[in-house]
Amino acid sequence: MRGEMRGERRGERREERGERRKGSAGCGGRGGSGIVLGVMLMVAALWTQGQDLEYVKGCVKELASPGMSGRSVVDEGDRKASAFLAEEFQKIGLQSFGTSYFQEYPISINTFPGKIRLSVDHHSLKPGRDFLISCNAPGISGTYELVWATNVRSDSILTALSGANGNAFLVAGEQLNYLREMASIPYKGIIFLNKNKLSWKISNGKNLGQWIAIDVNESSFPENGKQITLSFENHFVENYTSRNVIGYIQGKSHPDTFLVFTAHYDHLGRMGKDTYFPGAHDNASGTAMMTDLARHFALPENQPACSMAFMAFSGEEAGLLGSEYYAGHPLFPLEKIRFLINLDLVSTGSDGIMVINGEEFNEEFELLVSLNREENLVKEVKKRGPSNNSDHYPFYRRGVPCFFIHTLGEYSEYHTVDDKPERLPFSAYNEFFTLLTLFVQHLE
Ligand SMILES: [Zn+2]
Repeated sequence: MRGEMRGERRGERREERGERRKGSAGCGGRGGSGIVLGVMLMVAALWTQGQDLEYVKGCVKELASPGMSGRSVVDEGDRKASAFLAEEFQKIGLQSFGTSYFQEYPISINTFPGKIRLSVDHHSLKPGRDFLISCNAPGISGTYELVWATNVRSDSILTALSGANGNAFLVAGEQLNYLREMASIPYKGIIFLNKNKLSWKISNGKNLGQWIAIDVNESSFPENGKQITLSFENHFVENYTSRNVIGYIQGKSHPDTFLVFTAHYDHLGRMGKDTYFPGAHDNASGTAMMTDLARHFALPENQPACSMAFMAFSGEEAGLLGSEYYAGHPLFPLEKIRFLINLDLVSTGSDGIMVINGEEFNEEFELLVSLNREENLVKEVKKRGPSNNSDHYPFYRRGVPCFFIHTLGEYSEYHTVDDKPERLPFSAYNEFFTLLTLFVQHLE
């Protein structure tokens, strides 16, 4: 997920439900007869195979492992992850639209595969934990003078900047955050001191910047430091081949109409040889849940009425690149999508779920709420309006009815080096899984 997702709270682990049910997805084609409500009472009797949290945890562990290098371009981590997913799709028995599950497309992005060192007056800082380099930074090597501007008022900084020698680093407090947007400055770069845990992003790494922004944990930066020594290696990768992984299950009565589950499997990759971003919550969790849903619906007794596609996208963190490519080059007409659900950040749940686009697709939202109430599943089903913060958006923009759903509950690791599998609470996985299967069964 990109952008605004922060500040979920840590929740207590709830008892996991272990329902085993049976049924098949209902689907009457887009623009059909509307949603049948009032069938909720029959659902409890209908299922054999349910969710498998152990399977999901195993998938997350694999996707977030050091060997996957944070599932981006460095070390071809995303290719390794896509190969793993294709193997899972194969085991599950999903069909492919072409000769393979892969849909390839090009990415150009700045990366940091090599050396990353930073020290202040001979005190060295740890990449990822103590500092983060802005993703569009060029390589640099040398020692530079530090000019402290933490006490400079934001409105007087431009005058102060005019006297700079161009070869020093400015040390800035939060009041100067707006400088991040400037194309050029009369300094080699700016050190931004942060009070909160450092959180990386790679979406503006598509071009190199003219100066280097470095975010530093305030408590690890020596007060009144005089000199900074830097050695960063970057590699701007052009036209790297990334790939979406897509499979489907043929519907038994409406094979030309599709329900679609999507999840991005990529994450932020590496920042230097020794630091990678595991991306367990973001979004190994959603990818694993989508794969678990595919396992469920691939069982003959759960075969859906309409076809069901499963799309694992890459390039999300770099700017929804995989989903945007897919929506521009769909493997079947977008008009055939009855409904799409994007899963991103789904390993919490103690406070329920948030449905982005819940305010747009009211009928489907009400169905979700009724099913949840009847079956007493997740704590709360909340809704929001549209947002361009994840992979549902390129579809939404083209008129495809869709939700982006993430879980709610405490988890503080957003785009940090500590977004690790062992930290994920999975507080309401089984309940959320059950709700999703009920939902697609009852869509008409
Ligand atoms: Zn993200």
